[in-house]
Amino acid sequence: MSENQNKNIGEGQQGAPQGDRKTAYSPEELQYFKQIIEAKRDEIVIQLQNLRERMMDPTTGEYINENSPYSLHMAEMGTDAMEREKTYLYAQRETKFLGYLEDALKRIENGTYGVCIECVDEPQNLCETCPLIPKARLEAVPHSQHCLPIKLKQEKKRGH
Ligand SMILES: [Zn+2]
Repeated sequence: MSENQNKNIGEGQQGAPQGDRKTAYSPEELQYFKQIIEAKRDEIVIQLQNLRERMMDPTTGEYINENSPYSLHMAEMGTDAMEREKTYLYAQRETKFLGYLEDALKRIENGTYGVCIECVDEPQNLCETCPLIPKARLEAVPHSQHCLPIKLKQEKKRGH
């Protein structure tokens, strides 16, 4: 017990009975997550460049997009067009993911990254680190804004 007390001396936490709980990741930790997110983002940017090249129509040199007449007649166009359509949908998903990562980087800049938006006002204590999303989850899903128990609850509600 006295060992614990000694540990807290000099950390400015005396007299704060409920203040021991971390409500934000430290700048060092945020830096660590930033590296993970930036590496993922760069990976996706390169992937998207490759996909865009594949989506180029070889005969016209134009990009295929959802407004293109090609997608309307996909069935008649054969496998080439279907491949392109698949590529397009994949690129769309990746673009969305890229946006999530950019948002996560913004949250790192303003220091709110890693906080479960469901537990921040009313800690549910479903995780040891509540209201912070556990590190392992952030490493696996760096753009997540919910801890896993909350996420699973929401999915259950939606009938997944
Ligand atoms: Zn939570």
